Amino acid sequence: MSDKKWVYLFREVEQAEKYKGSWDGVRALLGGKGSGLADMTRAKVPVPPGFTVTTEACNAYQASGKFPAGMWDQELAALKEVEKETGKKFGDPTNPLLVSCRSGAKFSMPGMMDTVLNIGLTDKTAAGMIALTGNPRFVYDSYRRLVEMFGTVVLGIADEAFEEPMAEYKHKKGYKLDTEMTAEDWKALVDVFKAVVKKEQGFDFPQDPIKQLELATEAVFKSWNGKRAVDYRRATNIPDDLGTAVNIVTMVFGNMGMDSGTGVAFTRNPSTGEKKMMGDYLLNAQGEDVVAGIRNADPVEKMSQTMPEVYKQFMGITDKLEKHYKEMQDVEFTIERGKLWMLQTRNGKRTAKAAVTIAVDMANEGLISKEEAVLRVTPEQVDTLLHPQFNDTAKKDAQKTGKFLAKGVNASPGAAVGQAYFDADKAEKMAKEHKQDTIMVRPFTKPDDVHGMIASKGVLTSEGGATSHAAVVARQFGIPCVVGASAIKIDLERRQMVVGEAVVKEGDWISVDGTTGEVFLGQIPTSAPSLEEQTDLLTLLNWADDICAKGDIRTLYNGKKTRGLQVWANADYPRDARRARSYGAVGIGLCRTEHMFFEPERLPTVQHMILAESSAERTAALNVLLPFQRSDFAGLFEAMNGYPVIIRLIDPPLHEFMPDEEALFEEVVTMRVKGETKGLAEKEALLASIRGLHESNPMMGLRGVRLSIYMPEIVEMQVRAIFEAAADETKKGVVVKPEVMIPLTGTVEELRWIQPRLLRIAKAVMDEKKIQFEYKFGTMIEIPRAAITAGEIAELAEFFSFGTNDLTQMAFGYSRDDAERNFLVLYVEQGILPKNPFQTIDRAGVGRLMKFAVEEGRAARPDLEVGICGEHGGDPDSIEFCHIVGNNYVSCSPFRVPIARLAAAHSALKHAGTSIAEDK
Ligand code: PEP
Ligand code: MG
Repeated sequence: MSDKKWVYLFREVEQAEKYKGSWDGVRALLGGKGSGLADMTRAKVPVPPGFTVTTEACNAYQASGKFPAGMWDQELAALKEVEKETGKKFGDPTNPLLVSCRSGAKFSMPGMMDTVLNIGLTDKTAAGMIALTGNPRFVYDSYRRLVEMFGTVVLGIADEAFEEPMAEYKHKKGYKLDTEMTAEDWKALVDVFKAVVKKEQGFDFPQDPIKQLELATEAVFKSWNGKRAVDYRRATNIPDDLGTAVNIVTMVFGNMGMDSGTGVAFTRNPSTGEKKMMGDYLLNAQGEDVVAGIRNADPVEKMSQTMPEVYKQFMGITDKLEKHYKEMQDVEFTIERGKLWMLQTRNGKRTAKAAVTIAVDMANEGLISKEEAVLRVTPEQVDTLLHPQFNDTAKKDAQKTGKFLAKGVNASPGAAVGQAYFDADKAEKMAKEHKQDTIMVRPFTKPDDVHGMIASKGVLTSEGGATSHAAVVARQFGIPCVVGASAIKIDLERRQMVVGEAVVKEGDWISVDGTTGEVFLGQIPTSAPSLEEQTDLLTLLNWADDICAKGDIRTLYNGKKTRGLQVWANADYPRDARRARSYGAVGIGLCRTEHMFFEPERLPTVQHMILAESSAERTAALNVLLPFQRSDFAGLFEAMNGYPVIIRLIDPPLHEFMPDEEALFEEVVTMRVKGETKGLAEKEALLASIRGLHESNPMMGLRGVRLSIYMPEIVEMQVRAIFEAAADETKKGVVVKPEVMIPLTGTVEELRWIQPRLLRIAKAVMDEKKIQFEYKFGTMIEIPRAAITAGEIAELAEFFSFGTNDLTQMAFGYSRDDAERNFLVLYVEQGILPKNPFQTIDRAGVGRLMKFAVEEGRAARPDLEVGICGEHGGDPDSIEFCHIVGNNYVSCSPFRVPIARLAAAHSALKHAGTSIAEDK
């Protein structure tokens, strides 16, 4: 095995490639740092000469406890090559070569393993370095650093053994800062440190540079199995058998006079994405000085005056690096006596805004494809760009100053700052009349709280989960919302909330971070973005749409090729539909018609209709509602001209439209006690009726299609309103595509009962109005039985829309209103569930039902249109699953449409060329 190659010079990257067959293999062999330095060397970027001892050598060392045969000889031979390249010699007092010994695994493990700098410094070479540099302070400082690092890292001496005598020395001299130390002081400290080594180890600090290198190499190998490194690997799932490489790199110094310097830079602005170098440098300084901000650094541009030649070279190199890696680079460089060296380059971290701008610019520059640009931006980054955000440092400060109140479920992203109010009316009043920014705080919300929510900047509840009413409505309207913050105790009577010691009274300021679920006391600064102004984001989203529009991008389970997902929106009102269109939605996937019943001028009629004692009385009340509904639908058709609009027939249990039973009971009792008789009988009758509507399990009771069958007059009115509106709009030149959706179907017989009646009305209206247009009748798949019998259901339904809120509730048997408040968070914490299934589709259970339903449904009706309108329709992971199972579209809140457009394109690109059978 002695012919095995354990050591690669930076310039031998091609050999490594040949051996491993791929760049990924080279990264595994030479580590991230080593392969990067080698790659830069190949690209003719000036990198200090050096070499890498492979991860294979590290693994061999771990197995046997000694360097593998041949490795050390190869390391010495490589060192000779480095001497040749640099013209310096290791251990030569007249022109000494100094090197660093750095760890570097395949995946970055920042600070988890060891590094030793300034290897090669000895008493003799230190003297040579002083003669060479004329800078004894720098040389002795470097030397004491080597003795200290060598002592702690290589010899395992505790840090305190060096720190204590150093502190003592400074104290004796009356110094506070290291900068006060003179050359003489550092020289004295070198001796102190050498004495520490002798005392702790019983031998002298090695004056043989070769010995230093050997021990340092071994120390880096050992650090692979140090506690820090092992813990880090556990936490990040990095396998234990990768091993670390050891990089031996020539030391270069930026502190050798005014023709030397050091700096860090980004090739583009990491905060805005602007194509302009951004960085800092310092003359006559070491890297740490820039990072630590000890001295005020100058902007990199200034180098064009101080070192014009170097600046030109630097700009040329960074441009080359960016083109080579096709990514914004974060570089470290040093200038040693007028010569520029690149010490590191890596893809730079950036804000969401910069990520979008850089991706779009790079595609426009021809550096990357549009597909690559789309893939470089995450849906979460788009989310960030669309909601007001809290300033991060301000949030940290708030944490520090005890302003953090509680954490709940991050139900609707964005930052909201406002004055707390504990009921919808007050929140609305203070917002509208007193022009306050308000936050509505409730234990939970109900449909008749919506006006308060819409008027508020944010919503906070102490109960409920990701699909609770508050969460659904907040997302729909793009209102930042935290739900289920159970640490908060809301006292509605005293109009205050209490968290531990903190008491928030009505009108006090709070800040709600819907992106993270955090709630703070007081006002935290925010900034608010808008889509229209974000031209780069709009460009990127158009590219995303183009990707999904390719007719053969997706291969379905049956081998058929189709386009990718479309993105539709859930919208109840024309203003939401208009927003959805402007955000790029190409259909309405769910209009929850019942929301319209809550408008103040309609609710009494709705209640009258519910309490009607005869069908005639009910129809009379419905006739009053008909024009309202007709104009609601007309507005939607107009906003969605040319695009499909799915209108769901009434779904919730009737008691939701009635006054609160408890409050009414209290009123009745109070009237009785006070002896007030006026209106008492009516109230008592109303109370009796409400009690008559009571159900133990209303979510599984008289709702959805069951209600339509039990009380068909309501849906008959709704269908008439839909078709009359569609006919009127068609006459105006609007292209309408109404799709009538029947909710909560469990058996095809329900559809067989109701659908023909509704169809008759639809046809009758079209005959009356003497006009024809496209339309569909379909159903929601929300009940497991419907999914299982999808083949039968598709005989009648022309489309399916997965109501994954209810489907999740019923597949798991978890109440969607209670589970998150009780056990669901614990389940996720304990790993019983990987994720909250009300936020991300449970692929193994609910997902299988969906897959089965699509396949059975399409077997019965090949052109069956399939969508999703549960909350999952805006969740990137769930969107990917919808792509896989073959949905035509996903429908989500208008505010999530841009996120979904990007997620749909990601899914299309990720799965292009694979069929569903291969996707798990
Ligand atoms: C669903 O159940 O997923 C759905 C969209 O309907 P709702 O949330 O109105 O019950
Ligand atoms: Mg539902």
